[in-house]
Amino acid sequence: MQYRRLGKSGLKVSALSFGSWVTFSNQADVPLAKEMMAAAYDAGCNFFDNAEAYAKGKSEEIMGEALSQLGWARDAYIVSSKVRWGAVDNPKPTQVGLSRKHVYEGCYQAMARLQVDYLDLYFCHRPDPEVPMEEIVRAMTELIQRGLVLYWGTSEWSAQQLMEAYSVARQYNLIPPTMEQPQYNMFHRRRFEVEYGRLYDVIGLGTTIWSPLASGLLTGKYNDGVPDDSRLNLKGYEWLREMMESEEGQKRLASVQELAQIAGDLGTTMPKLAIAWCLKNPNVSTVITGASKVAQVEENMQALDVADKLTDEVMEKIEGILDNKPEPMDFQ
Ligand code: NDP
Repeated sequence: MQYRRLGKSGLKVSALSFGSWVTFSNQADVPLAKEMMAAAYDAGCNFFDNAEAYAKGKSEEIMGEALSQLGWARDAYIVSSKVRWGAVDNPKPTQVGLSRKHVYEGCYQAMARLQVDYLDLYFCHRPDPEVPMEEIVRAMTELIQRGLVLYWGTSEWSAQQLMEAYSVARQYNLIPPTMEQPQYNMFHRRRFEVEYGRLYDVIGLGTTIWSPLASGLLTGKYNDGVPDDSRLNLKGYEWLREMMESEEGQKRLASVQELAQIAGDLGTTMPKLAIAWCLKNPNVSTVITGASKVAQVEENMQALDVADKLTDEVMEKIEGILDNKPEPMDFQ
């Protein structure tokens, strides 16, 4: 495993991490959670990502139970939560959003569900235009000063919102966000590569990127139809299936077939190639992998070996197939 600094912070996060968005949703998943997390941990993974919204808090409960049964030293791993959408059906106005109230209560509730005394990373899962930036940055700063959170961050905030948070922190002597959690994969590049371009240097932004396999599209598993046991067949994920069946989705599938040939030539698999491609970007602090089976975790955790095989020549070939390199902004 390789460990990368989370932006300009001193925290060393494993280049490959594990998230439980779709995977853990009821109590019966605890044994699977333990097995998957242990497979990741044994491969050197030290970061386990979660959110209050995942399965309405169930995902955190299951991860918490797994962590407690696995009994790892608390200082050997990093665990996160994200606040924004709440963890209950039909939430009251105070049970969602980024008000000081919900940011605090979301933190206490996530700690209880995860069975930890503090959250290593705490993200604002999306921006909340109804809450003043100063209230958000101040609440996060206080949680850090109280020892309940170690680093705070954002997820899918625009570069402008990130700069606003940073400026507010500087203006009032508060703590700015350390990291962002954006989507980044071969098919989704613009925000990460262009919009955030200057933030890596200017504010030392760390990144914990999500959906490196574009929800499985980049594994090649959909090249010949939709397997019964895949995410595209899950209830509630019809939007993903529609996306794949769209014209753009079909174009992407054709690219995956070509990319699979490159993977074959390199003696590797499509999932490992797609994850390794993300790892090649030095602004990625960690790639959060997702999985529905232990074997997938084991496979994905080997992606670093493939990153070494991605020479300039191979990267150029991949670029040719993707044909989606985002244009720089005028002022960059
Ligand atoms: P991916 O894009 O990597 O998709 C993971 C899915 O792809 C798996 O569940 C599995 O689905 C399939 N897969 C994974 N590995 C393999 C393999 N080796 N072979 C075949 N199929 C494979 O990541 P996610 O979309 O799951 O995102 C990862 C994490 O990022 C989440 O768990 C979460 O922690 C975080 N995230 C954060 C978001 C945010 O807004 N901040 C949003 C989304 C995710 P299956 O087997 O069912 O087909």
